Amino acid sequence: MSQITASTPVTAAGDDSIISMRDVSKWYGQFKVLQNVNLDVRKGERVVVCGPSGSGKSTLIRCINRLEVHQEGQILVKGLELTDNVKNIDAIRRNIGMVFQNFNLFPHLTVLENLTLGPMLTRQMKKADAEDLAMHFLGKVHIPEQAQKYPLQLSGGQQQRVAIARSLCMQPEIMLFDEPTSALDPEMIKEVLDTMIELAQSGMTMIVVTHEMGFARTVADKVVFMADGCIVESGPPEEFFGNPREPRTRAFLDQIL
Ligand code: ADP
Ligand code: MG
Repeated sequence: MSQITASTPVTAAGDDSIISMRDVSKWYGQFKVLQNVNLDVRKGERVVVCGPSGSGKSTLIRCINRLEVHQEGQILVKGLELTDNVKNIDAIRRNIGMVFQNFNLFPHLTVLENLTLGPMLTRQMKKADAEDLAMHFLGKVHIPEQAQKYPLQLSGGQQQRVAIARSLCMQPEIMLFDEPTSALDPEMIKEVLDTMIELAQSGMTMIVVTHEMGFARTVADKVVFMADGCIVESGPPEEFFGNPREPRTRAFLDQIL
């Protein structure tokens, strides 16, 4: 009988990476969208990913929870390798929350129902417990009073905070954010960034694709710059902003700062 060895960690002893990408490449058809990407994220680390539109940022983070499939290289999450092995994929997804640009809330469910659905369906949590959990995290994003509303009755900033709370209800160890403030009106960006700063301060491991460089300076342990599917440069914010080494990084920063 073939035994699925899904949960056998393959990380080398002493490696404290919670996410490890080694020489990861991905193609969309003929187009090589990720080119030999290497990225390590330690537990509790906050990584900001920036770079021009089309450089592969979304693809990179979507590969980490297998919303996209890479063709070459290795992606390890908590020592488990992402392959076709469904057991591994499930185990990894249980540890990862994701927040998108467009909130992706269920419009026909109330805020509370949006938050309790996941824990009830996938964690077999009782409704009352799921509601307690949901209210806890709605408190964390400072909108407990919105629990009975429908998403479209909320502002964009509130909807994005609901989306963050919904992810947190699954109690992930890692949170991925893909341009979480890009669809927001300027006056709502701060409330979402403030929520994310609080999450970072709570010790959450985070990878955040964003062009909010103020956020990167405040929160990031490491800033990664991507262009044409490659990680061109990465480093701590002081170095990255103060003394970018690569001309492409400089050109990008000159444009957005
Ligand atoms: P970014 O998030 O940095 O803007 P993406 O990861 O979304 O970049 O996309 C990188 C490149 O891959 C772009 O050129 C984009 O057009 C292309 N691309 C993205 N998704 C697909 C897809 N599903 N099929 C084909 N090409 C894609
Ligand atoms: Mg993108």
